[in-house]
Amino acid sequence: MTQHCCEEMTSRVNVRCDQHHDDPFACPDALIAFSADFQEYGLIIHDGGTSSITIDFCPWCGRRLPDSQRDRWFEELERAGIDPGDDEAPAELQDDRRPGSAQRE
Ligand SMILES: [Zn+2]
Ligand SMILES: [Zn+2]
Repeated sequence: MTQHCCEEMTSRVNVRCDQHHDDPFACPDALIAFSADFQEYGLIIHDGGTSSITIDFCPWCGRRLPDSQRDRWFEELERAGIDPGDDEAPAELQDDRRPGSAQRE
């Protein structure tokens, strides 16, 4: 179970009503979408779709939220063999190795 920054965030992330327990995007009571894979928090846009706006700070306690792991997640995928040994991966997938700071042996 992921630790969130405060109780309010925890209860908002975990809010599930009886009618929409499987789909927070369908539930008007749900405000926050949390992606465990990416460690991303988003404000749910209730337009009938699954859009959300990523937030960097908790709206309740004001603490900085964890950095998005989206880049790392894709790097892990690569490392796991999706695209093995590819040094020419798009720069946006390589947050730690930008052009100019590349350290190639
Ligand atoms: Zn609901
Ligand atoms: Zn908080």
